[in-house]
Amino acid sequence: MPGIYIHIPFCTRKCAYCDFYSLPASPHLLQRYTQALVADIRRRPHGSFPAAASVYLGGGTPSLLSPAQVGAILDAVAASHDLLPGVEVSVEVNPAPLRAGFARGLAAAGVTRVSLGVQTFQPALLRGLGRRQRPEDVAPAVHQFRRAGISSLGVDLVLGGPGMTTASVAEDLRRTLEMAPEHVSAYLLALEPGTPLARAVAAGRVDLPGEDEEASQYETAREVLTSVGYRHYELSNFALPGHACRHNLGYWEGQDYLGYGPGAVSLVSGVRSMVRADLYSYLREVEAGRPPQRVVLETLGAVDRVRERLLMGLRLTEGVCAAQLEAEFGPEATRPLLAVLQPAAAAGLLEYAGNRVRLTGRGQLLANEVFRALVG
Ligand code: SF4
Repeated sequence: MPGIYIHIPFCTRKCAYCDFYSLPASPHLLQRYTQALVADIRRRPHGSFPAAASVYLGGGTPSLLSPAQVGAILDAVAASHDLLPGVEVSVEVNPAPLRAGFARGLAAAGVTRVSLGVQTFQPALLRGLGRRQRPEDVAPAVHQFRRAGISSLGVDLVLGGPGMTTASVAEDLRRTLEMAPEHVSAYLLALEPGTPLARAVAAGRVDLPGEDEEASQYETAREVLTSVGYRHYELSNFALPGHACRHNLGYWEGQDYLGYGPGAVSLVSGVRSMVRADLYSYLREVEAGRPPQRVVLETLGAVDRVRERLLMGLRLTEGVCAAQLEAEFGPEATRPLLAVLQPAAAAGLLEYAGNRVRLTGRGQLLANEVFRALVG
């Protein structure tokens, strides 16, 4: 179901591996940005986007906003968009000592789900990622969100980071399960070109775990989490029943999404566009009463849309319904791409269950090989 994404482009400090658009924040800038976002969202004509099942505040570091600022943004969303009953409202939070009343304030503002960017509980490994947070701040934050009534809490972990081992991942999982989150993300670190970490690796100053070690870390996460009742519903995501992230499911299922804020991407009716990733341009345009500059990245034809649906949908454990793709986009657009996947099926990386095509357990480990066939 469609979702609304709101980008909060501020971080206190840039992490070594991150290429997201974000800048240092000041209280004045946070307030100015909130006002601009509210004006931008409120300007959008009501009904121009289907009723949304989710609203997601990501970043950047949305937890730099006050609950009142989050509330003002969510009020603007509710005033300008149809939201489905029981809408999921997620906020990414970086572990830090929470300000008094912060968790209760978010819950009162309508937040239903919190995603905690823990990455690892081990200080030396956090330093390797260029993150300044303190592991000992995680448990009190979890406690405060629970007391505030947040009943869907996610912990985000990184695998394959500098110095990480299968044993360190097992320890992070043990510490994670102590928090009893409803959702766990365990992402293999992607080395983004141009980041300090990518430069350090290229210069030989930092080593990353090799492919076999990465696979072992991933398998450890899969085994530990599924053995205690989490459903492995997407390559890197695990949830207790009823707690899959509805917003991210929308991306993987090929639903439309609407993005607000500099650098935010939208996909509406096959057109992918992005708000120019420049905070001050965004503020200038919106404060002058104009829509922010938006660049059309691509217009997807039927074949592109099938490719995208396969690339995203094969990340899901349940895979993609080939019959539905054919019904939506026609056999001419669908069958050639399904044919491209045949060698992966013959190699045991993909399997069919009725009309659904999905990765096997081994295919999940080698998913990039399957995806390369689709884009090659
Ligand atoms: S990883 Fe998160 S906290 Fe770190 S710089 Fe990127 S957006 Fe900011």
